[in-house]
Amino acid sequence: MSTPRPTIRGERRSNDTNDLELRDYRLHEQVGQDELSIIYRATHQTLNRPVYVAILRRHDWISNSRFQLAARLAASLSHPHLLPVIDAGHDDRYGDYMVTPYIDARPLSDILAEGIPDLSFAMRVINQMAAVLDYLHEQQIVHRDVQPANILVTPQGNAYLTNLSLAAAPDTPLDLSTLSEAEYLTPYSAPELHLAQTEAHRALDIYSLGAVAYHLLSGELPPSGLIAELDLAGKPPALALAERVLLRMLSPQPSLRFPSAGAAANSLRLALRTLLDLTTTDMEESRWEACAEWFENPLELALTAELSDLADQFNDFLTESRKRADHLHRRDYLRKWLNRWSRQHPFRRQSLGQLIEFETIASYNIYFYELKVLYEFRTSPKPQIRPMQLDERPIAEPVIDLWKMQLPPPKDFASEAGGEVVLPGSRRFFTCPDCQGSGQVQCPQCQGKGMIKPRAKRGEPEPVEQTCPQCRGYGKVRCEKCAGNGNLVEEKVFHWSRKAIAHENNDDSEGLPPRVQALLRQRARKVYEAEIDLYDSHWHSAGPLSMLIEKAIKEAGEQGRPLRALLQIKGAMVTQINGLLDEQECELYLIGQYEAQAEAGASDQPSRDSAERLLGGETLVSTISLWNWERIALVVLSVLFVVMAVVVGSMMM
Ligand SMILES: [Zn+2]
Ligand SMILES: [Zn+2]
Repeated sequence: MSTPRPTIRGERRSNDTNDLELRDYRLHEQVGQDELSIIYRATHQTLNRPVYVAILRRHDWISNSRFQLAARLAASLSHPHLLPVIDAGHDDRYGDYMVTPYIDARPLSDILAEGIPDLSFAMRVINQMAAVLDYLHEQQIVHRDVQPANILVTPQGNAYLTNLSLAAAPDTPLDLSTLSEAEYLTPYSAPELHLAQTEAHRALDIYSLGAVAYHLLSGELPPSGLIAELDLAGKPPALALAERVLLRMLSPQPSLRFPSAGAAANSLRLALRTLLDLTTTDMEESRWEACAEWFENPLELALTAELSDLADQFNDFLTESRKRADHLHRRDYLRKWLNRWSRQHPFRRQSLGQLIEFETIASYNIYFYELKVLYEFRTSPKPQIRPMQLDERPIAEPVIDLWKMQLPPPKDFASEAGGEVVLPGSRRFFTCPDCQGSGQVQCPQCQGKGMIKPRAKRGEPEPVEQTCPQCRGYGKVRCEKCAGNGNLVEEKVFHWSRKAIAHENNDDSEGLPPRVQALLRQRARKVYEAEIDLYDSHWHSAGPLSMLIEKAIKEAGEQGRPLRALLQIKGAMVTQINGLLDEQECELYLIGQYEAQAEAGASDQPSRDSAERLLGGETLVSTISLWNWERIALVVLSVLFVVMAVVVGSMMM
């Protein structure tokens, strides 16, 4: 079937649209145009409500169905960051139309054309787009055309995803196989995107979100093709911090991208948190949702999705950390906790809970990874020659690959010196070249004569010839090379050994203040321990763990292989509070205490109030001093006064 030639009609300029009417809408000026439609600012006359009316400008059947699908799809969906469709239909004069509410917004592409936007603005747009993509993906809808031109942003920083005309939805399949892909692929399209494909995957949108994020952070179009590393030269520092997350979002392999858009956005936020903390000092930003947030660690998504019933301890930890965060995210509770902290020590700032003005509260878990790997090394087999044994007969042995050869099973994770082993199937029998198979060689002492003449000593008569002691007159001796049996064996021998190596990765806590990092390490408890298959792909979805595993595999080198791998994950809970204290920026970290039930012991004890139990072991670290210097000075002065009084008193006596 040939695609009908697209025709454009009804294209009107702003100066000739005065008083044009479409049903109940009065059309004002044309404000935009995309590949399917022309967009007018308009007014709903009965309601006197400002709207946008999009009129389909192409009249081939495929454009028609795409326009209708987009309208129906948008009308059936509802998300705060998806531009809603409030009316759609067909008008005899103008054709198909779609109505969306009027919002004071600009396409992100226009904003990007003006330069690199503010980092907190960028992160805000990415978060909102991740939220709406997760929402679409939950309903099995893949947008397939996430790009700055399809994102509208209001001056307040609210972003809306628009244009579902390329979306893939399960119940409204649309055959797009006749569309020319070249026309629709953008610099933000995933390399594997094919519109004709009926199966669309969320990884397509995660890639595009990564590409948009790249543009937001670098101010440039995302690189095309296979990207192994980003060119960071001359780019803003945010790009270097975000590099690992972006590379994963832009991975050429869809399965390596994040499991969800939200997980990707959270990782990005964690990667950028040091810079974000700096940018949010601008009070302008604080009106943007100064609220409590839970950041999911990518590991948590990976593990809970794959191992829900295998990792009880991990699930306990997650449940407990969420519960803890829920308590701390209630401002009244947090204030009470901080006040109590103040009261615990006379020299602390009093009523901290009242004094601090909260800006953001965020909780997340930090993980420390340890991977113990038992490697086995096998050197490449080298030929060795030895005499054939007497009872040895050439037998036909199958040739075995070096790594297929069975060796004694490993003893736990113990290193072993190993030994030399003959590679089966590598034996070759041949006649001894030294003795030509006779097993005997000429006696070296008498050169085969059987007799030797001892050397004459001075002043003594010429000695007589004697029988050669080495061959006893025989003239020949046993061939050493073949041990006298005339045949040799060449066989390939390799050396094996085993070595256990522990690898660690603490990257999760990177970027936090050193004191916080140290405390987190100290507080971290084991939340997961199991032997894992290093080549199992789902371990690669959490960045630091993936890096650790890659490093562990690399460590094996050319002659080694990992035999067993024991993964231990330690987790620590942290709540980060950014706020103002005496009009000074401050950052507080509450570091939680996780006690696995097994460690908590005594289970018959009546359980204390859960919040009490959960928050009893919190440690507070602050980036600014929380000492009550006035009180400390007062105490020091009083002590001095008392001492002086005593000294003066004793002198008077
Ligand atoms: Zn020999
Ligand atoms: Zn001899």
